[in-house]
Amino acid sequence: MKATVFGTGYVGLVTAACLADVGHDIVCIDVDEERIETLRRGKVPIFEPGLQELVASNAQAGRLRFSTNTPIGVRFADLFFIAVGTPPREDGSADLTNIFSVARTIGEHIDCYKIVVDKSTVPVGTASLVEGTIQQAMRARGADHRFDVCSNPEFLKEGSAIEDFTKPARIIVGTDSETVRKTLQDCYAPYNRNHDKLISMDVRSAELTKYAANAMLATKISFMNELANIAERLGADIEDVRKGIGSDPRIGYQFIYPGCGYGGSCLPKDMRALAHAARDAGFTAELLETVERVNNAQKHTLFHKLEQAFDGDLRGRRIALWGLAFKPNTDDMREAPSRVLMEELWEAGANVAAFDPEAMGEAHRHYGNRPMLIFASSPQEAAKGADALAVCTEWKQFRIADFGWLKANLRNPVIVDGRNLYDPAQVRRHGLLYYAIGRGEPA
Ligand code: NAD
Repeated sequence: MKATVFGTGYVGLVTAACLADVGHDIVCIDVDEERIETLRRGKVPIFEPGLQELVASNAQAGRLRFSTNTPIGVRFADLFFIAVGTPPREDGSADLTNIFSVARTIGEHIDCYKIVVDKSTVPVGTASLVEGTIQQAMRARGADHRFDVCSNPEFLKEGSAIEDFTKPARIIVGTDSETVRKTLQDCYAPYNRNHDKLISMDVRSAELTKYAANAMLATKISFMNELANIAERLGADIEDVRKGIGSDPRIGYQFIYPGCGYGGSCLPKDMRALAHAARDAGFTAELLETVERVNNAQKHTLFHKLEQAFDGDLRGRRIALWGLAFKPNTDDMREAPSRVLMEELWEAGANVAAFDPEAMGEAHRHYGNRPMLIFASSPQEAAKGADALAVCTEWKQFRIADFGWLKANLRNPVIVDGRNLYDPAQVRRHGLLYYAIGRGEPA
């Protein structure tokens, strides 16, 4: 099948590469010329395990092409995937400018029946707005062609995006058209062999399903963070509590790790957009708004622990930071807890020596001109001579630490662990003060 994918970010590029890999003929369109130029040179501008190889082999085989020329993209195929960004507006609602821009281009160049598949995360009702935008642009030039707009939200996770796309737990298709359902069934068939994972529903329910999934995940995290804060005050260990409750199959072990807050490009923005949409519909989503508030507060927890360790005065201190990405196996720093911590530390007059296995480029992009940020080339370089070590991301590289070395090389024996990576007793045996999340006072 031929398909055009609009947007070459985490979702668009993974979708395009995985579809090309099973033999579909794909053109990727992006408005970012530099990004398209990079892709044409065979380089992937984001870090996602396996993506570089997948893009290179399919581009070489001629099944994956890149362009900034949107009209070409519209004429190339009869199946379009929209995977452009839907960032948050100031008021929390989703900014749909990019979506409507693609819709207008489609309307301006549509020349026969097309299926428009929305993969971006968009508020309920967006498909009909997209339909209206295409109609308007098409009619403005006196054309009249049939098309369908459907919702096919994406559930991949950064860091395991290819695995998630190629082995989906479900493929949600929101449409009332049998043609659309059948087309997507055929398109995804190579990744839908084991048992039928396609769940079809009306378009509004499909749009809401994506937000509902993220809201559930965010709620689990904030719930655990709240419990961790309680455990800390009551002298209990949240890690034991986590194992204790996870063993109940109704609860399960997944996604119940306490920490320094959720970040990334999805959970925070989708929580705000859903709460905003609810408010617009005359309903206050008390739980969702609280989940987000709890998370925002949690992002300050490492800073408060550092303040506590240094009697409220961090001026002139140097803090080593392990992990900048919002989670392991990605370079994405959007809404990462590390950013809140760094910005608070700078505000308090402290310097940061940071290391991340993949996100150093992103850190340069965001904070390259900050004099109070040192870009370390290894975890050890970051920690050597620092007053304390803070851990923000649970990269594999950080899961085993040489506490003897840290004790000898940190200027003060302080570790603040936002991911509960270490055994408190073991860390403390080395004479280090260990502040974790919900695991009692450092002793
Ligand atoms: P991204 O920011 O990584 O990439 C978006 C791309 O769209 C950029 O390259 C941008 O230049 C391009 N773009 C913007 N306007 C365009 C236009 N008019 N035409 C063509 N290209 C255009 O975004 P992402 O992380 O891939 O997310 C895309 C959507 O998918 C969002 O709605 C997001 O919420 C959703 N989503 C993201 C993830 C994730 O893990 N990142 C997972 C599931 C769903």
